[in-house]
Amino acid sequence: MAAPSMGGVSLPRGHGQTVRLPRGASLTDLAEKIGAQPSALVTALFHLGEMVTATQSVNDETLQLLGAEIEWDIQVVSPEDEDRELLETFDLTFGDEGDEEDWVARPPVVTVMGHVDHGKTKLLDAIRNSNVVAREAGGITQHIGAYQIVTELEDYERPITFIDTPGHESFTAMRARGAKVTDIVVLVVAADDGVMPQTVEALNHAQAAEVPIVVAVNKIDKEGANPAKIRQQLTEYGLVAEEYGGDTMFVDVSATTRQGLDELLTAILLTADASLDLRANAEQDPQGVVIEGKLDKGRGPVATVLVQRGTLRQGDSIVAGDAYGRVRSLLDEHGNKLKEALPARPVQVVGLTSVPRAGDTFLVVEEDRVARQIADRRQARIRNAQNASMRKRISLEDLDAALKENRQLNLIIKGDNSGTVEALEEALMKIEVSDDISLRVIHRGVGGITKSDIDLALADDVIVLGFNVRAEGQATELANREGVDVRYYSVIYQAIEEIEAALKGMLKPEYEEVALGTAEVREVFRVPRIGNVAGSIVRSGVITRNSKARLVRDGVVVADNLTVESLRRFKDDVTEVRDGYECGIGLGSFNDIKIEDVIETFEMREKPRA
Ligand code: GDP
Repeated sequence: MAAPSMGGVSLPRGHGQTVRLPRGASLTDLAEKIGAQPSALVTALFHLGEMVTATQSVNDETLQLLGAEIEWDIQVVSPEDEDRELLETFDLTFGDEGDEEDWVARPPVVTVMGHVDHGKTKLLDAIRNSNVVAREAGGITQHIGAYQIVTELEDYERPITFIDTPGHESFTAMRARGAKVTDIVVLVVAADDGVMPQTVEALNHAQAAEVPIVVAVNKIDKEGANPAKIRQQLTEYGLVAEEYGGDTMFVDVSATTRQGLDELLTAILLTADASLDLRANAEQDPQGVVIEGKLDKGRGPVATVLVQRGTLRQGDSIVAGDAYGRVRSLLDEHGNKLKEALPARPVQVVGLTSVPRAGDTFLVVEEDRVARQIADRRQARIRNAQNASMRKRISLEDLDAALKENRQLNLIIKGDNSGTVEALEEALMKIEVSDDISLRVIHRGVGGITKSDIDLALADDVIVLGFNVRAEGQATELANREGVDVRYYSVIYQAIEEIEAALKGMLKPEYEEVALGTAEVREVFRVPRIGNVAGSIVRSGVITRNSKARLVRDGVVVADNLTVESLRRFKDDVTEVRDGYECGIGLGSFNDIKIEDVIETFEMREKPRA
């Protein structure tokens, strides 16, 4: 059959053949796969009433629509499948390898869930402190997102790993990203309160994930505590206590008096032994899941990972989500250096080039090169997928009009650690203005606002929120040039107030921050009686004496609320120094200045009301 012609360009029909495309592919990508001219596909789509350019990402529905027209069965590959395929091209799979016979028993991984204020945090702390072995080892216990304790059961020393980011939000978030980390859920219910909405929610999440539950009936030291009532209430949800003929272990505890803690640990182990056969291959290339990631001022990107199989060692080449690197050091929850981490061991990894997200999987690979290639491919894929829904840009001020069309406000959240980013996102998602306006966080991450964040914001109607972080040089330029609304906060409620006000259409800020100039620190001079002076070169705008300033290091705000107290060119005091010139900047009593820091100056200007 002759190829049909559209707009004068021939279009090869697929006659029902299958073509696979990643989510967010462009018409050029499709054209390449089916041997067509990209322009022919643009034209074909135009006739179907959709106008896209050849290189623009196209969403799933549009691809299907076009597929039907040109008789190709277009299969959009999910990110999970695509990642599996990506790993396969490097001969890698995520999962246990080899003969089950050779696997070794591993400790259970436990997540504590329950209603707010029922004592999750306190219980996790009490268990952490019950760890005799750790106390003997010394070192200050740090919150790294997970910890391991050792308890005794029938004369055997048995480790148990606890995920130290309580709450079902993180549990669900990880599960949603395909990372199954939890073997057992400890459901905390306060004996003086009873089953509450989040108790039920947590229970549902655990049951949906088919994870066995141990119930910790907490606060039994309190007056009015009624542990029997809790058992009674939970039968309604299918959790029947062993003493009533069911198969769920209930343990009465007090996180305050530490009563019942040993029994709780025993119950966890018995439940694991009875219903799970926890084994892992300790010999294969190590793999696991990221529990927490943050940008540390001194050490750079730091990730707490849970090793699920294999034995992680210093020097391993690792890829975690779209971050990669060489394991420079492994630290446990006491800050002690480890030589290796066995399955079910949580450990802090230093040496990654960027910060992975909680729930990302990690793999150790043969060579740095492979780690880097996988990370690059993932980054590219994330960008493509995010570019898939192209729409125009907005700012908070013209939100009103935009919302009338879209009924959705898209946000990108960047912050200095994953905890605050999550907290901010959670808080923002709780804002309710009206049923038909919604907030959507299309991207979140740890670290400065990068050019790729702004690229993403350009593709969608997006407002970028920076929490204690700033935009990196190129990103600021791009944002200014393209008019992307980037907002900086250091207080969560301020961000919430502004977004809420914006959603209510009553945003009338009276002052706005106006950037004056930036200077890069080239050298630091110690001046007696004055302190450190930043030998700098002005990179943009103008630096003026007495203007407000902040200090940015690697995209993170190190200090806010500073003032340019002294400004010199050579030996002379000056009032301003322009773009391209060198100068000495003194920030008063603030002395923590390092080479390559960026000093930003700004002023607050009254904003004309709309
Ligand atoms: P979370 O929101 O579930 O993490 O709850 P927290 O661990 O923050 O505890 C909430 C409050 O209950 C805090 O004031 C704790 O001191 C208190 N609390 C926790 N466990 C106990 C307990 O076993 N007995 C008593 N009396 N108070 C407790």
